[in-house]
Amino acid sequence: MKTKIKMMMVSAFIATGMAHLGACSSLQKDVADSEDTFEYNDERFADLQMLRYKVEGFEDLTLKQKTFIYYLQEAAMWGRDILFDQNGKYNLRIRKMLEDVYQNYQGDRDDEEFKAFEVYLKRVWFSNGIHHHYGCEKFVPGFSKEWLLAQTECSDEILEVIFNPDILQKRVNLAEGEDLVLTSASNYYEGVTQAEAEAFYNKMKAESDTLHPVMFGMNSRLVKTADGKLVEKKWTTNGLYGKALTKIVENLKKARPFAEDEKQKEVIDLLISYYETGDLETFDKYSIAWVENTEPLVDFVNGFTECYGDPLGLKCSWESIVNFKDLEATKRTEMLSKNAQWFEDHSPVAPEFKKEKVKGITAKVIKAAILGGDLYPSTAIGINLPNSDWVRAEHGSKSVTIGNLTDAYNKAAKGSGMLQEFAFGQEEIDLVEKYGDVTDDLHTDLHECLGHGSGKLLENVDGDALKAYGSTIEEARADLFALYYLADHKLVELGLVPDAEAYKASYIAQMQNGLLTQLVRINLGNNIEEAHMRNRALIARWAYEHGKADKVIELVKRDGKTYVKINDYEKLRELFGKLLAEIQRVKSTGDFKGAQALVEKYGVKIDPTLHKEILDRYAKLNIAPYKGFINPVYTAVRDEQGNITDVTVSYTEGYAEQMLRYSKEYGVLPLVNE
Ligand code: ZN
Repeated sequence: MKTKIKMMMVSAFIATGMAHLGACSSLQKDVADSEDTFEYNDERFADLQMLRYKVEGFEDLTLKQKTFIYYLQEAAMWGRDILFDQNGKYNLRIRKMLEDVYQNYQGDRDDEEFKAFEVYLKRVWFSNGIHHHYGCEKFVPGFSKEWLLAQTECSDEILEVIFNPDILQKRVNLAEGEDLVLTSASNYYEGVTQAEAEAFYNKMKAESDTLHPVMFGMNSRLVKTADGKLVEKKWTTNGLYGKALTKIVENLKKARPFAEDEKQKEVIDLLISYYETGDLETFDKYSIAWVENTEPLVDFVNGFTECYGDPLGLKCSWESIVNFKDLEATKRTEMLSKNAQWFEDHSPVAPEFKKEKVKGITAKVIKAAILGGDLYPSTAIGINLPNSDWVRAEHGSKSVTIGNLTDAYNKAAKGSGMLQEFAFGQEEIDLVEKYGDVTDDLHTDLHECLGHGSGKLLENVDGDALKAYGSTIEEARADLFALYYLADHKLVELGLVPDAEAYKASYIAQMQNGLLTQLVRINLGNNIEEAHMRNRALIARWAYEHGKADKVIELVKRDGKTYVKINDYEKLRELFGKLLAEIQRVKSTGDFKGAQALVEKYGVKIDPTLHKEILDRYAKLNIAPYKGFINPVYTAVRDEQGNITDVTVSYTEGYAEQMLRYSKEYGVLPLVNE
């Protein structure tokens, strides 16, 4: 799906090892910076770790921008109940019952049954329902039915839903051969079979404008009436979920006068009109206006967006994010883009493979100000919208990375013990702690802004000549470009790194990750499959082998554990330069055999003994596989007339506290929505 880079979500290390962002980042750092009192890690329960993210730069925004964000984040809050109900028709009733028990419980809070109950409730909050947010399976309560009945009255129907493992097993069922609509617990269809739903929407599509089709079904529940007819119950201000949508619209209207330009006001108007009418052509107009509105610093997503929750991929779950451009990061990428030609001219690749005229790309980095609906608490680190294929083809899309969330994942990994466990010694730990954050970001920037855009194919070379090896080679090319230049004095000159030592942190990260730590993401016995991972292995193993004679890098065994020791950083840079030249040659000439030989020799196989060792060491660290975020709290400061004079942001609200407050303040929907 194109809507988001959802972190692969599987786990912490996957979170930090994500795609382009990951080259350096899964080498995790330890111990918070001394001047840094903000706690990235919060509580942990079940398979979850709660984190916090910082909205740095919010204080520097204008009052108008802060006020705009304030109302938009209010609008983001009001959709929470919608998502709970979309995820399952019993969710709101169950949440209410659990919260009442949680708040009124008079017994011992250290009691095992209560503790299990608390974990269950926290998981329900996290998943916006009673099914796992990622695996989709129904939670198994660790407390007994008897215990629950001693605390509260509970209907047999709800008891069955919670305790009977045989009903509503999966939120989304994708098992081939079954009726996916009937067997999925998500609340997008009522009394409708898969065949009926498909026929209903296929007919609509067949009768529509084939060049500019709207996204049929995306904002409604499909219901079979008593007389057997199929009808769509639309999610509009006067339809299903009307109370929540009315609140969203109210806050969009309050936000509107503070919009950054006229075009953005038009975006808001179209969104309101769509929420009021449910008209999908209006939604397309809104999407076009939104995608073309690129100037403002502050931007937002608010609407029915993600279709993973519907086994047929039509119905969209509600979500919201409010964000603003990261000016610092954007400065950095602009600096690189401006100097793109210098980097191209000085790279170690053969002159015939270089671009005479190269243009750097300014990657857009944003900061999340609030996460709502299907982006909360489990979130994406990148967004790519809108969904509509023809809108994307004719009007483009917005693609951004959310810098402060990535940063939070990385910072939270400090203290996980990863660095201590895998670093060769104190010198390596110190380097990574001192420079790791700076070089991580810079690595990503160099990779994205310059690496992918550098070099050229020789004439008549087919861009797809490397076939299945193409993406690994391409990622290696971009990573090597970054690694080579991280050690260049030019970066010191441009003020992008503090000194000529900094690059060492990224070399440690690259080698340690490529040779050892990224293996934690692969099950024993499997090969490396994913292109970014293959690329990291390829680079690290090639450099290790080609530097062997000079002992540039050593694999040292200590107490049965393997460590990476870099003896000569300058020689390692030369090796990266050499491999970059070779990889560029392979790419420029379309040398399939060359690509195959490199990838198969260095990027695929794993030594099972080493693999087992790494997995065992990682398991001992006991790192939670899934993470999510607690939102900051925005408070409007008002004068006597009620005008907002400032907006403050705080980061102290606890997880349970936040969830209970959201339920109380924004719990606007009836418990049963029909
Ligand atoms: Zn890349």
